[in-house]
Amino acid sequence: MNETIIKKMQEILGEAWVVTDLEKVKSYCEDQTEKAMKPKVCTDCVVVKPSTTEEISEIMKYANENKLTVIARGGGTSISGAAVAIMPSIIISMERMNNIIEVDETSLTVECEAGVTLLQLVELFNKHDNLYFPIHPGDEGAQVGGLVVMNAGGVRAVRYGVMRDQIKELEVVLPSGEVIKLGKNLIKNNAGLDLKNLIIGSEGILGIVTKATLSIKPKDKHIGSLVSSFDNESDAVKAVTEIFKAGIKPLAIEYMEKEAILKASNDIGLTWPSNDGAVDLYFIVSERKEDDLYEMYETIVGICEGNNALNSFVAESSKDQRTLLDIRSHVYPSIHDEVVDAIDAAIPIKNLSKYMENIAKISVKYNVEISTIGHIGDGNLHNSILTNGAVKPNNYEAIADEIFSLVIECEGSITGEHGIGKVRNKKMNLQFSEAELHLMREIKKVFDPNNILNPGTAL
Ligand SMILES: Cc1cc2nc3c(=O)[nH]c(=O)nc-3n(C[C@H](O)[C@H](O)[C@H](O)COP(=O)(O)OP(=O)(O)OC[C@H]3O[C@@H](n4cnc5c(N)ncnc54)[C@H](O)[C@@H]3O)c2cc1C
Repeated sequence: MNETIIKKMQEILGEAWVVTDLEKVKSYCEDQTEKAMKPKVCTDCVVVKPSTTEEISEIMKYANENKLTVIARGGGTSISGAAVAIMPSIIISMERMNNIIEVDETSLTVECEAGVTLLQLVELFNKHDNLYFPIHPGDEGAQVGGLVVMNAGGVRAVRYGVMRDQIKELEVVLPSGEVIKLGKNLIKNNAGLDLKNLIIGSEGILGIVTKATLSIKPKDKHIGSLVSSFDNESDAVKAVTEIFKAGIKPLAIEYMEKEAILKASNDIGLTWPSNDGAVDLYFIVSERKEDDLYEMYETIVGICEGNNALNSFVAESSKDQRTLLDIRSHVYPSIHDEVVDAIDAAIPIKNLSKYMENIAKISVKYNVEISTIGHIGDGNLHNSILTNGAVKPNNYEAIADEIFSLVIECEGSITGEHGIGKVRNKKMNLQFSEAELHLMREIKKVFDPNNILNPGTAL
């Protein structure tokens, strides 16, 4: 990295907060994207660690004047290559901007700096009797800024929606260095175009989020989990449809192939409650009153049995609930070394059976293992293409093309939560018309005329 740039960064931040040591820099140039999908990493970068919005503004002004590439860096947990440096870049690590500013129990909000991690939020609200932050994607190292711009989802979207549904206000530094404040903590606000919603899900290409005010929820006192096993995915999907029709909103409904869940439980030495059948539904439910929780269990079990569930297991003790969650959380890590690509399509519930049946056909046609787990309650499934050692098969492109065409045929989206990043750009034209893509590119130009902010991402 050019010495003049390093000197300027040291002038803005002080020497201690400018990292040039190659080994240290390398760890900031990559994210958690599967190795077969990861774009070629460039390590000719400098990592800077600002602690204020003003410092970020100074860095952006300089970068914009000199047309230098900048990448905002959160927890580096992206699995779509969004945080990977592919050209010489100034990487702005948000790790020092990790202050929780205020929990407002009247407005039910938490205001925090963008470098606050999900783990910090979890720990903060573990100490609270009656409040919590509902979004929980798998990796607690993710930061608020990353959650905002990736519009993170996770398991509890069934009841609470995704990150977009929690964001009240944002502070953002534009590529020009200007600082803007977007959104208001109001239910009704119809003034102007909704710039806040443009930043949410923008994958870090429009501006750098420095602060966010997020909504928090009252905790339900009674929480439980339930597992039902089925012989096939079609019965499981029918059960989910009927559960929604019955007006039931669990916190989460997860879908897991039996082979994957048993492998995960075996790997971590815990016992999954059922060896029967080919697929499981795993529900997390919560209610304010105990009686309501029991009624919910009964209704869910009744519906599952009515759709040929082989058995159902209710986990009431916190130990049993923890065991189920630990095993579920380990499903992806337990197959990770074989994952070539984890496709994370979102499919409308009415087309889920058709989607799954055709995924099975694609697996047979190409003689490739495709493991399916996911957040079935919101139609977001993770179809992982698996090979020994995660080596990309020669026919990978044909397999992926067929899966993505199927996603579109099923009226779905090519990504439910992982984002386009730097791995799905070529598939954008499957989902969007040229007119829509043109609008997106023009919006990027308005925010970032010199294309300095994380180029090659999202579009
Ligand atoms: C094991 C595992 C499980 C996961 N499960 C889920 C899941 O269930 N649901 C889900 O949605 N995701 C999931 N993810 C993906 C990932 O956690 C999310 O995409 C997360 O939102 C990324 O946050 P981050 O802070 O790590 O961002 P990074 O990976 O550091 O960055 C991602 C993108 O955000 C940009 N960015 C980061 N911070 C800022 C900022 N302050 N301002 C502007 N741009 C910024 C970066 O430039 C980059 O483009 C999972 C990841 C892993 C590894």
